[in-house]
Amino acid sequence: MRRLNRVFLYDDGAARALKIEEIAKYLRKKLIKVGVEVRGNPFAFYLLQDKVSDYARKIASIKIQDATKKWSSEQEPLYGEIEYGKKMILGKTRASGVLYDGLELQRLFFEVIPGRERSLQFVHIVFSNRLFATWDEHERRYHARVNLCGIPSIISTTGVVEAPAKPRGYYLLRQQYEMLGKDLLELKNSFKGAFIDYEDLRLTEVMKGYAMQSVFYSLVGDPFCQDKGCRLYNAHWQEELIFAQIESEYEFCQRHMSFLEELNEY
Ligand SMILES: [Zn+2]
Repeated sequence: MRRLNRVFLYDDGAARALKIEEIAKYLRKKLIKVGVEVRGNPFAFYLLQDKVSDYARKIASIKIQDATKKWSSEQEPLYGEIEYGKKMILGKTRASGVLYDGLELQRLFFEVIPGRERSLQFVHIVFSNRLFATWDEHERRYHARVNLCGIPSIISTTGVVEAPAKPRGYYLLRQQYEMLGKDLLELKNSFKGAFIDYEDLRLTEVMKGYAMQSVFYSLVGDPFCQDKGCRLYNAHWQEELIFAQIESEYEFCQRHMSFLEELNEY
């Protein structure tokens, strides 16, 4: 098990419902000996240096145009895409229907982390509203993700709504609703609570578990757990996610509890 030096939390336009200070407080309780710092916008450094356009260009260039085609570095962003990226960096817009290549996004965030902090002793967690996906070589397509661990770990407040599958019945009914031209809001209401939605009041609670996945990635090299009741469970369905993060009677399984106890002893 690795010793941790510090945890840093960043806000890349994460959903308003996300209370990052509350997550910091939670982490301080779980990791008694490790300092937890809230750092705000990861691009602050670029904003100070008047390099917003450079960054917006880089961000615009990692957009995925087609979920069945792997991202390539030859992709040239359009002017409008760069302007849009600038607005996002400056926090002037939050809505986003854009999908990004997760590994490339992680690489961009890595660049803004100070060199002396680029090691796993430091846990960097970026909460973002950007939806990102990783390429599946086997299926030859992208899959949207809630989080991607590394330096830094990125966690998407849009991904938590869009990536894990909703109940099967929801998709079947949605087809019917769309065919009949019925109001989709009504459908959402009939499934209320069954999945995490935009600006969901449970969002912060759910994200505490994802933050802990990033912590465990640094600690032991593996963010996930096989136990469906453990917050480190890698949920593919909304139902599993809600169970692991909210409904389960315990937070962590025995094995992961003992890691935390050991960490807090020193
Ligand atoms: Zn576990």
